Amino acid sequence: MENKERELLRQLPSVNELLQDSEVKSLFTINGLERTKKAIKQCIGETRQQILVGRVNAISRKKLLANINQYLKNREAPSLRRVINATGVVLHTNLGRSLLSPTIRNYLNEIMLSYSNLEYDLHKKQRGLRYQHVEKILQELTGAEDAVIVNNNAAAVMLVLDTFGSNKEVIVSRGELVEIGGSFRIPAIITKGGGTLREVGATNKTHLRDYQAAINEQTGAILKVHTSNYRIVGFTEKPSAEELYQEALKANIPMINDLGSGLFLDLSKYGLPKEPLIQDAVATSDIVTFSGDKLLGGPQAGIIAGKKELIEKIKHNQLLRALRVDKMTLAALEATLRIYLNPEKVLEQIPTLRMISTSEALLAKRAKKLVAKLNKIANIEVTMERGNSQVGGGSFPDYLLPTFLVRVQGEGTWSATRVEKLLREGEVPIISRLEHNSIFFDVRTLQAGEDEEIYHQLSNIMEE
Ligand SMILES: *Cc1c(COP(=O)(O)O)cnc(C)c1O
Repeated sequence: MENKERELLRQLPSVNELLQDSEVKSLFTINGLERTKKAIKQCIGETRQQILVGRVNAISRKKLLANINQYLKNREAPSLRRVINATGVVLHTNLGRSLLSPTIRNYLNEIMLSYSNLEYDLHKKQRGLRYQHVEKILQELTGAEDAVIVNNNAAAVMLVLDTFGSNKEVIVSRGELVEIGGSFRIPAIITKGGGTLREVGATNKTHLRDYQAAINEQTGAILKVHTSNYRIVGFTEKPSAEELYQEALKANIPMINDLGSGLFLDLSKYGLPKEPLIQDAVATSDIVTFSGDKLLGGPQAGIIAGKKELIEKIKHNQLLRALRVDKMTLAALEATLRIYLNPEKVLEQIPTLRMISTSEALLAKRAKKLVAKLNKIANIEVTMERGNSQVGGGSFPDYLLPTFLVRVQGEGTWSATRVEKLLREGEVPIISRLEHNSIFFDVRTLQAGEDEEIYHQLSNIMEE
């Protein structure tokens, strides 16, 4: 150890010394003695480490006190908090996928903070089912006879396969043995539910006759999985949902269709590839499963819609109790679905769909505005570039949405890596893209007022 470091360590105040400090004393009253002591120990320990690696030039009592204060404050700060998504990935799974519509805010407030008729039938004065609240609206939107809601779509698939595939064979095409992420794999879900996977066809081609040959008295269901997160292109073939549905009908077994994402609207007029629509899938399947927080733009949930007698069986599965949704989810889902009753309002009121369908002209306008604002900050050069956004959430896997990026570059000692980290760890974390020693903000996923926050935080960083 060098003399300087030894001297700095000697100057470092002790816990007891700091406890005598009048400013520290005022912290006791709010945080208690034990907690304050712990904070002091922690901060002294950190400073000692910093001294040992040569990062401290002088002991600053003021800085030490500020650290203690911050440490105590951090304890109360929530860990889950708002971030600014400047990545351009709309359904960013790590950043919470869909944003709920601001139009349902007051309704959610009311349901979350009050008693409700969650499981109470107000007319019959008796116990009701929580799923009743979305039953009618799902009937109207999807055409299904009945529906049940669970925690997420993974749970929906699991519950359906447990109900119809247990001790039976489930037929799936080899082209549809999907892994969704977080190691959720269709083959594993079938075996977990006590069923046997009956693979048919080849990766690129599965014929109707492959299904026909596999059906026997052990068959519990035909499962069709929408390959939402990859594409098989080239020399390919598979039977349509309608053909599989007819085949299942003949064999008197259910045809289950896992759509994954789930869309009510055709987005192809916004340049996106065609995706199967929920109502079309419902018309050609016995049971359809889809996610609440992917393209639907609602809360995390799994929706199971289909034939009444089959949904009735699912409602009697003991597993449902473990997978059921709470009132916050149900309220958010019901309110989101209600927006779909007004088709002309959907794109404007569902943030996920609004962000996906934003026109290039509007994106350019917003990028230009952000460039002008950020160019007021000294020592950086801010420009606008064409780039691509992604839908994300495993949807539209090979499709990129043209967008406009705001590029920030610096001079001299500028390090984009450092600035990216400071933005990400700032008071409202800003998640940006980092490439070619530049920071990129994709305006597509920025929300109202976030331009100002980016300006504020970036100018603070540049002034440091
Ligand atoms: C995303 C997806 C799931 C899982 O849905 P979660 O809501 O994320 O649980 C299941 N199947 C398919 C085809 C999917 O795309």
